[in-house]
Amino acid sequence: MIDSKLPDIGISIFAVMSKMANDSRAINLSQGFPDFNCSDELIELFHRYQKEGFNQYAPYPGVMVLRENISKKTQMLYGKYYNPETEITVTAGATQALYTAITILIKKNDEAILLEPAYDSYAPAVIASGGRPISVPLDFPNYNINWNKVKDAISSKTKLIIINSPHNPTGSVISRTDIKVLEELLRDKDIFVISDEVYEHIVFDGQKHISLCTSEELSKKSFIISSFGKTFHATGWKVGYCVAPESLMYEFRKLHQFMLFSVNTPAQYAYAEYLNNPENYLYLNSFYQKKRDLFLNELKNSNFIFTPAEGTYFQLLDYSRITQITDMEFSEYLTKKVGVAVIPISPFMKTSKHQIIRTCFAKKDDVLLQAAEKLKDVREIR
Ligand code: PMP
Ligand code: GLN
Repeated sequence: MIDSKLPDIGISIFAVMSKMANDSRAINLSQGFPDFNCSDELIELFHRYQKEGFNQYAPYPGVMVLRENISKKTQMLYGKYYNPETEITVTAGATQALYTAITILIKKNDEAILLEPAYDSYAPAVIASGGRPISVPLDFPNYNINWNKVKDAISSKTKLIIINSPHNPTGSVISRTDIKVLEELLRDKDIFVISDEVYEHIVFDGQKHISLCTSEELSKKSFIISSFGKTFHATGWKVGYCVAPESLMYEFRKLHQFMLFSVNTPAQYAYAEYLNNPENYLYLNSFYQKKRDLFLNELKNSNFIFTPAEGTYFQLLDYSRITQITDMEFSEYLTKKVGVAVIPISPFMKTSKHQIIRTCFAKKDDVLLQAAEKLKDVREIR
């Protein structure tokens, strides 16, 4: 028997609910991925680079032209320069970047502050490194960061705080004030930041994504992580990246080279070329805002309560007017009896006091309409 490093961790809720959706032939609004294809141009670029012979190992930090284009995009959007030579690494999705960054920071008994609900991969990585996740709840119902609670959670063992904006699963985004408060809170402390910005291009209602790299002070202690999976509708390609100052990236790469060495080569060249046209990602805000609005407009006379997501392609729905059963039970009910699979949010938090589920609206319009039609009919469960 293995003495498990993760005794309390089960199968990811995304795998559980997507399987339940398939088994029940339910519309799958659970796991976060688009049900439409990525662009033909991107697919053709991938093929072209394969045919041209770009099929062997890439350099371990990623192909240079992609790192250069990530650097240009970051500078153009956020005004911060990262040196492609030393400060940018291409990873196998954001998941690997998160795991690598957490692993190089956390040693035995170190503490990592997680703002809950928190994306499901953070805590297992902290625990597998011998550290302790310290949960700080976001304020209900707007899911803003409660900085007093964060302050109280900081101890001499705190090594890391993970920020995620736009936020999965709540769809909330951070403000300039949050950045200022975090700057002050971490000033003169030996605490690092991982900023999970995979939904950086999906922000609504005229708001702008605030990257942590826009703070000179915070960028010096931050690993900033993003994913092309979200941005280019290609979650299955598993390509993401991490940017950080040289001294941090130096340590990151030490582990990265032995976790996977390098990310698949033709995808990197394809993304590098595709990034040359900012229209390939800047349209996403309005693209997903239309989907959010279409979905919510259909749900406005339902028994669900909601505040429109500020970003991401997720929308929380409060079902407390329908039933008081747990979010896991309700998610199972919706999947098996109503035909719409969703995600309970309790796996994102230690204690879940509310009747809330997450839906993903990265779906074709007709699928969203069909799903909303079914959800509208859910009035009361006794
Ligand atoms: N962070 C967050 C907040 C996510 O929602 C996801 C996946 N949806 C990831 C990280 C992982 O991204 P990737 O699929 O690129 O590994
Ligand atoms: N991040 C996606 C979500 O939130 C799922 C990714 C995964 O299945 N690991 O639904």
